[in-house]
Amino acid sequence: MNMLIFIIAGLLVHCVFLASIFDIYFTSPLVHGMTPQRTPLPPPAKRLVLFVADGLRADTLYELDDNGTPQAPYLRNIIEYKGSWGVSHTHVPTESRPGHVALIAGFYEDVSAVAKGWKENPVEFDSVFNESKYTWSWGSPDILPMFAKGASGDHVYTYCYTAEKEDFGAQDATKLDTWVFDHVKNFFQAARSNQTLFSKVNEEKVVLFLHLLGIDTNGHAHRPNSREYKDNIRKVDEGINDIVSMLEDFYGNDGKTAFILTSDHGMTDWGSHGAGHPSETLTPLIAWGAGVNYPQKVTFQFFEDEFLKEWKLEKWKRLDVNQADIAPLMASLIGVPFPLNSVGILPLDYLNNSAHFKAESMFTNAVQILEQFKIKMTQKKETTLSFLFTPFQTVAGLVILLISSFFLACLCKSKNKYVPKKDLTILLFQMLSIALSTYVVNSTHSSLHHKQGLPVINQIISWTTLASSLFVPLLSPTFFFQRLLSILLSLMSPYLLLSTGYEALFPLVLSGLMFSWIYMEKEALQHYDDSLKPKLAVLNFSYTTDITQFRQLHLDDIRRSFFFVFFIVTAFFGTGNIASVNSFDPASIYCFLTVFNPFIMGSLLVWKIVIPFVLVSCAFEAVQVTTQLSSKSLFLIVLVISDLMALHFFFLVKDYGSWLDIGTSISHYVLVMVFTIFIMLLSGLAQLLTTKRIELWGRTKRHSM
Ligand SMILES: [Zn+2]
Ligand SMILES: [Zn+2]
Repeated sequence: MNMLIFIIAGLLVHCVFLASIFDIYFTSPLVHGMTPQRTPLPPPAKRLVLFVADGLRADTLYELDDNGTPQAPYLRNIIEYKGSWGVSHTHVPTESRPGHVALIAGFYEDVSAVAKGWKENPVEFDSVFNESKYTWSWGSPDILPMFAKGASGDHVYTYCYTAEKEDFGAQDATKLDTWVFDHVKNFFQAARSNQTLFSKVNEEKVVLFLHLLGIDTNGHAHRPNSREYKDNIRKVDEGINDIVSMLEDFYGNDGKTAFILTSDHGMTDWGSHGAGHPSETLTPLIAWGAGVNYPQKVTFQFFEDEFLKEWKLEKWKRLDVNQADIAPLMASLIGVPFPLNSVGILPLDYLNNSAHFKAESMFTNAVQILEQFKIKMTQKKETTLSFLFTPFQTVAGLVILLISSFFLACLCKSKNKYVPKKDLTILLFQMLSIALSTYVVNSTHSSLHHKQGLPVINQIISWTTLASSLFVPLLSPTFFFQRLLSILLSLMSPYLLLSTGYEALFPLVLSGLMFSWIYMEKEALQHYDDSLKPKLAVLNFSYTTDITQFRQLHLDDIRRSFFFVFFIVTAFFGTGNIASVNSFDPASIYCFLTVFNPFIMGSLLVWKIVIPFVLVSCAFEAVQVTTQLSSKSLFLIVLVISDLMALHFFFLVKDYGSWLDIGTSISHYVLVMVFTIFIMLLSGLAQLLTTKRIELWGRTKRHSM
């Protein structure tokens, strides 16, 4: 009967977990209800022409052919004399729909589209087209309707060939592109004689979108290295040239038109796209016309890839963007609000405008992204249980207090005779210090938030806690539990002080995990030999002195050492610690000092990083005592394991490839070697922390190793 309940409960839990990924990962991340944000200054352009050459690779467009002539002479000329250029980095999936959404709406495809095959709009979203006064678009029926459908009101017009008619491109896909160019020309021809249309196209905030599917179709059919693909690029180049002169003629060279050419994704050498290979994710971006910067000549520019040399474009400043950044770029050129769901960051280098305009635009961009965050936060607040949603607070203080008081209660109840009063006092003192640390962290951050500076009393408490944290554990008895708990408690207070948020939970969770490790090792040992039945509670660290209790090594000890290495590595990567030294968030040391002092700041951060390691080493020490092994022998196995790792990395050291590859491989090796030396030091510290004991009144009892 009991079994049945268990099975049913197990089934239920797993079903919930199964369904949960769809709820957690595949629901729309888009939020609604933001206020539109627009740069308050007059925009440089009245209209924007967006050419998207579907499936055009950056390298195929930019590179020169064998004779040194460019694939697209007109666009090359623009790069050299008229506009700005760069590589636009797209995201996976490199498909047409997500690519266009990133370009025009400024966010990376809504993952809930997975269920709908990227065909239909799963949710309504805002786009540059929607924000424009009028948008006219020409191209494929797969792409255009999705921006017309979401648009509010009747101001986004689409002209597509029908899906069946797409067949006319079957023999020669360039016809898909000439269809677009011809229709644009006819449209403007008609506008000359149609008064309503004429006044419409002469409005401000107008977008013309030319979607050119030929290159993609040719790439799928003949691969990007084919004659057909490259010929199609040349056709598109000529077509763009025609359209630009036609438009300049139509608008009487008013200098109020901005042009952007890009593509939605690239294509692999074998003619596919969708994944994350550079040939798929690197797309060209060329912008020119009203409001766009002229070519910037440079003598030196550095990019990891070797493309600049290959393309012979070293002298013209390459300005890379993320695909979603193109949406705010377009919006700022014609002065429409940034699309509401956009996460793009305005690429300032592309703008040819006053510093004032750039500053205002950046500010608007920031406010627009912040709007989304605010709405998201409110939503989260509404749907999360209120006590679980605590922004920026050290919850990993209250939890510790709860746990330690639980232990305290246990100690008091069960082993009253073992626990002398003074030990209790020490424990209470440590709990008090944790409570104090929690308070100090919160009060410091709130006082800094209110610009009142760091209270002196908080600073004093912080430094005292830090200083006391290392010797206070030495005062507690060397009994197993009490010493470990005491070490954890006293190391936690400085860690709390050095934390900014939930990372303070990390050592606690790590300790929980290691405790079960110690317990497991004890059980495993009993399985081996009944005579070795240590009782965790009465185990004493000072027993390590008794040589006669040591036993021989057996196979299990390799596992123990392995787990030690595992936990050390966990501690290493646990909170992204090493990165936090590099990226250095000064917020984490505000409790100690607020003036800039690299040496003290650095040492504090290093200490914060070392704390989890010390905890792991102490736990390892505990395992050694539990399993009644000489600490040296188990430690030797650890060294063997880490040296094996070092040997592995030694063979992976590279002396070829890019500087990055070589550098990375060397640093792996050096890290492992340093790691070996580091754990030797740690083990010393751990032994000191666990075995030494200072009696408060005079008599100092020392246990040598
Ligand atoms: Zn495409
Ligand atoms: Zn395609």
